[in-house]
Amino acid sequence: MINEINKKFVECKICLTLMEVSEEAKGGICWRCLQSMVEFPKEKINTVKRSRRPKGWQLMKRFVDKDGTVYEKGKNNPELKGKFPPTDVESILKERAKRKREKKKKEEMEIAKRNKRLMDSGYAKKNKNKK
Ligand SMILES: [Zn+2]
Repeated sequence: MINEINKKFVECKICLTLMEVSEEAKGGICWRCLQSMVEFPKEKINTVKRSRRPKGWQLMKRFVDKDGTVYEKGKNNPELKGKFPPTDVESILKERAKRKREKKKKEEMEIAKRNKRLMDSGYAKKNKNKK
């Protein structure tokens, strides 16, 4: 009975779920939100880590991680650790983005050219038929 009296319900500040708290507690955050808050930084670190390596780094002849770990075609070669400067991932990504843009531009131009050719040939045919 004492427990019943001492307990009250408050809304979680984040997800607004009602939760049971003791009389002294002044509301706050439920365990679910607390857990997700604890997990969040971990995920963030993982994303940062992931983005540090460009796609297909395993296929590169030599990829040097930030800490100096050397990978040869994706295989860690501890003997070479620290013997090479870290691979400049940023410039690789930039270069790739640039190439992708250029490729897309080229493709668009090709399509435009083809469309123009089709239209021209269609137009020419039409004119021919008229005669
Ligand atoms: Zn919550």
